[in-house]
Amino acid sequence: MVEKNDSLQEKLRALEAIFLQKLPSKIGEITSTLQQVLERPDDKEALIVLHRHLHTMAGSAGTFGFAEIGALARGFEFRLKPLLEGKRWSTEELQAYAAEMRANFDEALKRDDKPVNGVAGSVQEEERDLSDPHLIYLVDEDEEQNHEITVQLEHFGYEVVRMNHLGALAVAVATRRPHVIVIELSFPEGKVAGAEEIARIKQIERFRIPTIFVSRSSSFESRLLAVRASGDGYFTKPVDVVALTERIEAIIQADENKGYRVLIIDDDAVTSKFYGAILRDAGMVVHLLNDPTQILTVMTDFRPELLLMDIYMPVCSGVELSRLIRQDNSYVDVPIVFLSSEADLSKQLDAVRAGADDFITKPVAPEYLKSSLSTRAERYRSLRALIMRDGLTGLYNHTAIKEQLSSEISQAGRNGAPLALAMIDLDNFKTINDTYGHPAGDQVLRTLARLLRQRLRRSDIVGRYGGEEFAVIFPDTTATIARRVLDQVRLAFEKIQQHCEGGHFSVTFSGGVADLESTLDADELFDFADAAMYVSKQTGRNRINLA
Ligand code: GH3
Ligand code: MG
Ligand code: MG
Repeated sequence: MVEKNDSLQEKLRALEAIFLQKLPSKIGEITSTLQQVLERPDDKEALIVLHRHLHTMAGSAGTFGFAEIGALARGFEFRLKPLLEGKRWSTEELQAYAAEMRANFDEALKRDDKPVNGVAGSVQEEERDLSDPHLIYLVDEDEEQNHEITVQLEHFGYEVVRMNHLGALAVAVATRRPHVIVIELSFPEGKVAGAEEIARIKQIERFRIPTIFVSRSSSFESRLLAVRASGDGYFTKPVDVVALTERIEAIIQADENKGYRVLIIDDDAVTSKFYGAILRDAGMVVHLLNDPTQILTVMTDFRPELLLMDIYMPVCSGVELSRLIRQDNSYVDVPIVFLSSEADLSKQLDAVRAGADDFITKPVAPEYLKSSLSTRAERYRSLRALIMRDGLTGLYNHTAIKEQLSSEISQAGRNGAPLALAMIDLDNFKTINDTYGHPAGDQVLRTLARLLRQRLRRSDIVGRYGGEEFAVIFPDTTATIARRVLDQVRLAFEKIQQHCEGGHFSVTFSGGVADLESTLDADELFDFADAAMYVSKQTGRNRINLA
């Protein structure tokens, strides 16, 4: 069912091939600009264009493994600098420069026809398809326990594969790598055979698979063994499934590079695709922008968590563009990283003054690019989270979800797309608190938050609107569809068993859905969805109603 994408290496190789194909015409561009400079030595404009072409060539040729051409371009670029700063060459000097450049490029084109040590060659393949459903392997002899855990995990949308003997695990892992393994510590093979098998598999496989141990024993000794097998969690039986799900969720989140949204701005389409492929492979969501004049629309629509931009572009420089972005209050702290072949320190300082956070010089190793960008995006996201997120559930808070709705409505308006808003309110929640205690109530709120995130699309925006009220924005969706989706969440939620000291119980919720058919005003949309939710309450609860 899951389609395996082309490997990153294949994609990068394909881009290398495109670059190779375009190389003669790019060099042609350089030499024809050179001709203009020769014909009109006083034309500063032509000089600037020539410099930019050489600069782009220096950066991209290196990236794609044409080291010699890259070095040549950089050399000729460097020699042009004094002219840009006002120095004049004699006609002879200019002609000598031009002749040398033509001859050198001609020769290099003949020789340098295979990329060596390009970025593609240095990519370490990691075979994980991020669109896989989250797969959990559950290894335990206890069928009854397995069944209970499976049913609950499936409510949250995980795919669970059960195994009732230890021998099956290694083969299963080799066939299909799970996101998380949940495994009993002891088996007939030995008191700690589960931990031993995990340690053995870790030696065979190239990747460590996050593992959670379950056991009847809560002894220090058993826990220590689990730690030594690099366990990511330890649960004693009977397993608290809600807590187990919470741990699995945390592991998977940390594992996925969390889909940082990165905007790449570069006038050179092949280069930006190349870096885009590397970042997408690391699980980031990448938007490529080749035309800087579109920046403001893209900022509101895509809401990047990091900008990676070229320093030289035709319409405006990267430095100017970052000033322009920083002028807007909402973007004063979004990280901006320059990806450039610029080795000139003063240019870098200009960029830093304009609000750049970092510099990465082309060509850059994919591993370095991934790690330095995800560190920055992570920091930005966690700072934003402090302002935007609700502490108990991690969802958007009241203010943030309202902001999101306004921005989504204007985007939907621009694209002529539908949009639905749902309000959700837990049923008889006061009674739950009164019967099982406030901490149990908090756990219910977290369970619903997790279920909503797990069951809805990534593009759906979930917020905690108030105490036990949630709001969900469904972009590109009509109220009828949103209601159908939410109804499935409702059915899953009522089946989830909540555990606490006072016993088991389950909870339901009521909801109301409205869409842009009724109004284009954010506040009014909230009112309509809320009114529809009240109708659900009045007509018996545990249902979703349309406005
Ligand atoms: P209805 O089905 O009509 O919505 O009934 P209800 O009991 O859910 O509604 P009501 O508005 O009377 O009660 C809401 C309860 O939600 C009261 C409040 O104590 C509880 N609540 C609000 N915020 C929190 C929270 O953060 N944690 C916990 N545990 N309870 C909360
Ligand atoms: Mg309420
Ligand atoms: Mg309620």
